[in-house]
Amino acid sequence: MKVLKFGGTSVGSAQRMKDVAQLIMDGERKIVVLSAMSGTTNTLVEISEYLYRKNAEGANDIINRLESKYRRHVDELYATDEYKQKGLELIRYHFDELRAHTKDIFTLFDEKAVLAEGELISTGMVNLYLQEQGVNSVLLPALEYMRTDKNAEPDATYIREKLLEQLEQQPDADIYITQGFICRNAYGEIDNLQRGGSDYTASLIGAAIKAEEIQIWTDIDGMHNNDPRFVDHTAPVRNLHFEEAAELAYFGAKILHPTCIQPAKFAHIPVRLLNTMDPKAPGTLISNETELHKIKAVAAKDNITAIKIKSGRMLLAYGFLRKVFEIFESFHTSIDMICTSEVGVSVTIDNTSHLAEILDELRKFGTVTVDSNMCIICVVGDLDWENVGFEAKALDAMREIPVRMISFGGSNYNISFLVRQEDKKRALQALSDELFS
Ligand code: ADP
Ligand code: ASP
Ligand code: MG
Repeated sequence: MKVLKFGGTSVGSAQRMKDVAQLIMDGERKIVVLSAMSGTTNTLVEISEYLYRKNAEGANDIINRLESKYRRHVDELYATDEYKQKGLELIRYHFDELRAHTKDIFTLFDEKAVLAEGELISTGMVNLYLQEQGVNSVLLPALEYMRTDKNAEPDATYIREKLLEQLEQQPDADIYITQGFICRNAYGEIDNLQRGGSDYTASLIGAAIKAEEIQIWTDIDGMHNNDPRFVDHTAPVRNLHFEEAAELAYFGAKILHPTCIQPAKFAHIPVRLLNTMDPKAPGTLISNETELHKIKAVAAKDNITAIKIKSGRMLLAYGFLRKVFEIFESFHTSIDMICTSEVGVSVTIDNTSHLAEILDELRKFGTVTVDSNMCIICVVGDLDWENVGFEAKALDAMREIPVRMISFGGSNYNISFLVRQEDKKRALQALSDELFS
């Protein structure tokens, strides 16, 4: 069985929902993961912000506007009075749930429940539409099988058991519709897999059922060789190795959630990135195969902080790096890039919630300097050290741009540069011009 995930823009209007339905009604049994309609999760975040500020009136205004929009979608989506009525009941139920959160004190738990409504509504709407079309489709409630453990990591055993149970209970369905993004945590509370997490849902399901393929359907024809939001003339990459795709996703290629490649990679399930607006386009196939001797793509990750620790005591001292890393570990802060020299070490982090405490500890070892608002530019491809010339080409592209750190050799697949955030667009364009034109 295949798992197909459709993102927010792919289900962003009644017409798009009909287009998705056309795509999936091909007689093959499948699991379909849906995001919330585009813009909805952002609006739910906005509602939560009003409620945290105890502005119930402001929140209710947005809720009313959003409900009117959904009522119009329902009117456009269904052909028959019977299904228009069912659609309106669905909308009423979920908006009543939202309004219930405006009446009492608003906590983090309420916020998680509010954010879950987008996916609950979109899946309900598409499921009803398929049923109106005579398709034997059923809902698989994600809140009953998708779960994280005490470390906030997906609980693979629980997910597999509960999902298989649900599939066995409804063996005759042709299409299983389920919510991306949402889950329960180890304590049974409603939670989510972080923004953009529907991709992660799809690959966790794929791994759990040992799917034949995971398809991520979005609004672009696959992974492009650079970020199309910042660079002109980008082009799709047809094949990527799991490791290459994981590097690109982690280092900023928004088309994939940072962690969504891992479950597919471990389960050896190919991932195909496809375009809902152009379903015949070949897209990108992510698998264990790779094209050799080629730089594939570039991505960028913002909001990076670089920390340099300079110490006379590092000279010939063993154990220095361990002590430095232990400080980051004790504050649950992961390091992205590392560069060392005889007298010091530079690292980068993206989570600065414990920066002040980390700096206090690091100062015990030497002089510490911090550069904020930096950006990691990651060049991905067959970058095995024995392939001569590739790193030189990437470096050459950066000749006009101040580079704070360079990292190469950590894997066979990437070389990373740390630059100022304000130089990001220029750096991405320069790399595209040098590497792909
Ligand atoms: P969805 O709502 O379907 O999950 P996203 O907006 O999360 O879609 O991801 C698709 C978007 O990712 C594209 O519209 C594009 O702007 C952006 N993007 C960033 N980097 C890349 C890249 N290297 N290749 C393709 N798309 C990218
Ligand atoms: N709806 C969620 C978000 O906007 C999850 C997703 O679309 O992947 O972040
Ligand atoms: Mg996305």
